[in-house]
Amino acid sequence: MRDLRELPKANLHLHLTGGMRHATLVELTAVHGMTVPPPLPMGEVQPWEAFQARYDARRAAIRGAEDIHRVITESIEDNLADGCTWLEIQVDPTSYAPLLGGYEPVVEVALDAMAGRPCGLIIASSWARSGAHATALAKVAARYTNVAGFGLSNDERRGDVADFAEAFRIATDAGLISVPHAGFFEEAWHVRACVDTLNARRIGHGITAMRDRDTVAYLAEKQVALEVCPTSYPPFGVASYESLPIRDLLDAGVPVALASDDPLLFGADVTAQYTIARDVIGLSDIELAAVAKHSIAVSTAPEDVKQRTADAIATWCAAVP
Ligand SMILES: [Zn+2]
Repeated sequence: MRDLRELPKANLHLHLTGGMRHATLVELTAVHGMTVPPPLPMGEVQPWEAFQARYDARRAAIRGAEDIHRVITESIEDNLADGCTWLEIQVDPTSYAPLLGGYEPVVEVALDAMAGRPCGLIIASSWARSGAHATALAKVAARYTNVAGFGLSNDERRGDVADFAEAFRIATDAGLISVPHAGFFEEAWHVRACVDTLNARRIGHGITAMRDRDTVAYLAEKQVALEVCPTSYPPFGVASYESLPIRDLLDAGVPVALASDDPLLFGADVTAQYTIARDVIGLSDIELAAVAKHSIAVSTAPEDVKQRTADAIATWCAAVP
């Protein structure tokens, strides 16, 4: 059996707080005089708000530029050790801006931590905040030539797609890739709306789209990728591992990238997502390699990184298991 940790791949869906090491959380909470927040209750379905409260409690341990820099640096190290040749980290500057004195210092410390590393920065607003807030963040993101993309995270049921059209127009006009979360709770129409209205080139999750044949065909036609994070779905009861039709998506021509989302909360790195795809969904090594190829192809990595990764995936496939 080939080693999935050695399969070269890109992790395209990873949040700043969610990528923090547990040991770092323990250390930062001690330094800042906080208690370590309780883990996510595993094996029981919970409302989004319960998850968000636990996420926010962890984010509160990140108190300044030094902490942001450290968490990103360690996240990059961990993903490289996990076989990633490229990763993209989503940062919503909103909660850190008061600590650092504005959005720009947050963007700059994140870019500084990523400089010279195989990592892209996605600036993300939130479905739970206004379109005007997203527009303000998009204007900041658009000023930096080395910001890779613009996203929207949190609970999509809390916002209207059309309210974010201006923000994404500003971001995409500046050359940023549009990568909103969509189709987690809302049905397939939501994914289509994000493609049509926000010019999405990749969708964070999009699991409801997988269940609608027409939307799958639409994604294939437009070559819009889905960032699928298997361990993110059972805690909310939105999908089981078995129900993720990754093989069908690949057969339909939809680019699929497996990603880790929030390993700090869900307890699983990107190799663990591939392991679920192998052990539970039954993907062959060749299919897993196809997913890895998609992950790097739809990334914002420089062309030389894409080429080297594609070559290394071919080498992984050629090795006799
Ligand atoms: Zn996410």
